[in-house]
Amino acid sequence: MREHAQMREHAQVVIIGAGIVGCSAAYHLTQQGLTDVVVLEQGPLFATGGSTSHAPGLMFQLNASRMVTALAAYSRQLYKDVVVDGEPGFHEVGSVEVATSPERWEELKRKEGLARSWGMSARLISPDEAVRLSPLLDADRLYGALHAPTDGIAKAVRVAQHLGEAAMARGAAFYGATRVTGIEVAGGRVRAVVTPKGRVEAEQVLVCAGIWGPVVGRMAGVPIPLSPMQHQYVMTAPLPALAGQSGEIAQPLVRHQDRSMYLRQHGECIGIGSYRHEPLLVDADRIPRHEESAMPSVLPFTEADFAPALRDAVDLMPALRGAALPYKINGMFSFTPDGHSLLGESLDVRGFWVAEAVWVTHGGGVGKVMAEWMVDGTPSMDLHEADLNRFHAHAVSRPYVQARAAQQYREVYDIIHPLQQIERPRDLRLSPFHRRLEELGAHFVESAGWERPQWFAANERELDGPGGPGDLGGRGWPARAGWAARHWSPVSGVEHRATRERVAMFDLTPFTKLEVAGPGALAYLQRLASNNLDQPAGKVTYTAMLDERGGIQCDLTVTRLSPTRFWVVTGGSVGMHDLAWMRRQAPDDGSVHIIDLTSAYCCIGLWGPRARDVARQVADADLSNEAFPYFTARRTTVGAVPALLVRVSYAGELGWEVYAPTEYGLALWDTLWAAGQPFGVTAAGGGAFESLRLEKGYRLWGVDIHPDYNPLEAGLGFAVRFKKGDFLGREALLWLKERGLARKLCCLTFDDPCAVALGKEPILDGERTLGYVTSAAYGYTVGKSIAYGYVPVECAEEGTRVEVEYFGRRHAATVAREPLYDPEGAKLRS
Ligand code: FAD
Repeated sequence: MREHAQMREHAQVVIIGAGIVGCSAAYHLTQQGLTDVVVLEQGPLFATGGSTSHAPGLMFQLNASRMVTALAAYSRQLYKDVVVDGEPGFHEVGSVEVATSPERWEELKRKEGLARSWGMSARLISPDEAVRLSPLLDADRLYGALHAPTDGIAKAVRVAQHLGEAAMARGAAFYGATRVTGIEVAGGRVRAVVTPKGRVEAEQVLVCAGIWGPVVGRMAGVPIPLSPMQHQYVMTAPLPALAGQSGEIAQPLVRHQDRSMYLRQHGECIGIGSYRHEPLLVDADRIPRHEESAMPSVLPFTEADFAPALRDAVDLMPALRGAALPYKINGMFSFTPDGHSLLGESLDVRGFWVAEAVWVTHGGGVGKVMAEWMVDGTPSMDLHEADLNRFHAHAVSRPYVQARAAQQYREVYDIIHPLQQIERPRDLRLSPFHRRLEELGAHFVESAGWERPQWFAANERELDGPGGPGDLGGRGWPARAGWAARHWSPVSGVEHRATRERVAMFDLTPFTKLEVAGPGALAYLQRLASNNLDQPAGKVTYTAMLDERGGIQCDLTVTRLSPTRFWVVTGGSVGMHDLAWMRRQAPDDGSVHIIDLTSAYCCIGLWGPRARDVARQVADADLSNEAFPYFTARRTTVGAVPALLVRVSYAGELGWEVYAPTEYGLALWDTLWAAGQPFGVTAAGGGAFESLRLEKGYRLWGVDIHPDYNPLEAGLGFAVRFKKGDFLGREALLWLKERGLARKLCCLTFDDPCAVALGKEPILDGERTLGYVTSAAYGYTVGKSIAYGYVPVECAEEGTRVEVEYFGRRHAATVAREPLYDPEGAKLRS
């Protein structure tokens, strides 16, 4: 392998770090034709002393995230073909994930369904079959296992070397023992990287520095919110039970989630890794330098932390009893606040890209999508979960990153409920009327740092009346049990009903509120939006924003406030993503200003058939349908509170989103609450919201729609105006339209109203997987259990029978005409 002697002075792309991620990125960039690439590595090539150098390389592909699973699947495909000096880069030994408790066995049924949803092969097996595959397992300890035959072991250094050398062969230059000590930024763009051996001018820089990422990020003023974390791994001495298997890697990986551990074969020895100790965080600034240690990403092994794992390993594999442990390592790798990688270009420093907190399992796929993104401008798959720019300001702070990263480490092998809440830090972002929500007994959930009510204990009293949970014969709804009952309350049904029958107040303060203003605002928004925003002042428009592939990057409502000012509202948790997308597309000639007003304004959703009666008591405006029709907005006062009323409703009822400057928030709540008393106003939370929106068929960005889907298949064709002129994604969408749709987002209703889905379950036709559930909820008004999901167009006909698998049980469902509630929209326009 040839290391370049003379440092280049210029490169189109400089990659910092030659671990698995840096090498994969160089491989894919040069494969895409971008060959003017320089890779700088502070350690020796390719056993660099970074995390890749000591990873045992277990690759479990299945993940709760479709994106993560897809990145792993591609990586496996890539690594499978790697051969260095006659040695393979990947051993496809499969994996066996064991259940040693009834709860875990149930969880494995759910995981088998997840594998179906993501198109991965995995099946449940009996204890005997598990022992046949992995003979050291104790069958008596097992309830069963999940077998994934395509999982395996990557030889990480070998793969990195192969990818690096292939990149070199295509023109990339690699320099070992070359530490980047500075990054030059000017005019909001990265310009060069500085090393003791010289300066390299760069059009783009890609940080693949692993646990050193935060240090490198700081050189450019870009926060890289991850924490290095210690993680220990041991290897036994040769075991009599594996005698004669020297040099072999044949047995499947074993994952023992109940004890947060994993095991693999190394010839006659077994390797054991464990997460079962308190997280051991490391400050990125205190990682030793290469001059101080040949393996700077390794710390002294701590026996006490590993002792429980050894006992658990012996319990599972009795043949390990008494085995000596000649090899013990305490390595470091990266954890982020939400457990996902950090991928993308900084918004503040253009040309400064990041691919951090990536496992060996996903390194191949991450290199590929980064190269697509950097070369084509758009990656070939949705990466919003890993978007570098997804974090709010609080989430990049050191205490937040450390607290959340520690929690991610603790939970890395836990059974995580989709609605499971973070414990710390909480109470970071509170609505101005938070006090009132507390007084009503709000059960809070956290989203983007906000405390959001899910339901209110104060509404429990209405459960006692006829039509409560379990009263299926009347107007009631089924009670829930087990997994589905967690983080759920029947009170959501009460709040849903109050919204449909009377009036409810929802705290919508977390909505992201942006003002787009300036002489170029209309032209800019028209270029981004699929709908026509050239409307009179006071008009509200729902629109998508598409990328070049026609994928849905954002969906939002836009209110034209004046010829040059627009009020743009999008979800709370997706706000940073949407803001980043919009800022990235904005002209830099000063003609457009985008101001994030989220913290400046609170918002209350006042929705329900009596909403006008309530608002009339206090709003200084003509609220009649004629004077204030659906999809219009008006500035007025509510009591003494200056407010913007926007006549839209995610619940599908008459009503308004009422925005006011934050300091008036408490007064706004109290004013509307008092005015609502004669009309039976109720506070309502997220549980009711979810069910109301699904009855109405409103799509949620991030689950029902995202860049992997286009508006035509998502049923959002009504928000696309091909005739308005050019807009981003128009060409792609026209092409997709011409080609014809392959799949469609459908509404499914279960035959059994007690059937539940929570999201991501497979939608099946016999043994064929048609798609997966994107959203699900019980519709308390329509009296049906509802799920949404994409299915092939030939299965999208109303009346088509399908099944949804939940915890291994199949539930019959039918494709229904949507929306289920008020299809004419008469309620909204009343
Ligand atoms: P690295 O391999 O650390 O590469 C980053 C490189 O950047 C380093 O070589 C570093 O020297 C270089 N660098 C940093 N700063 C600079 C600078 N200023 N200038 C120049 N160069 C710089 N993952 C799995 O998928 N499966 C497993 O079984 C597995 N087991 C693990 C077991 C242990 C004990 C540990 C600690 C980790 C394990 N991991 C596993 C995680 C995996 O090792 C890492 O996530 C992965 O290797 C990270 O790759 P990387 O390329 O991002 O980082």
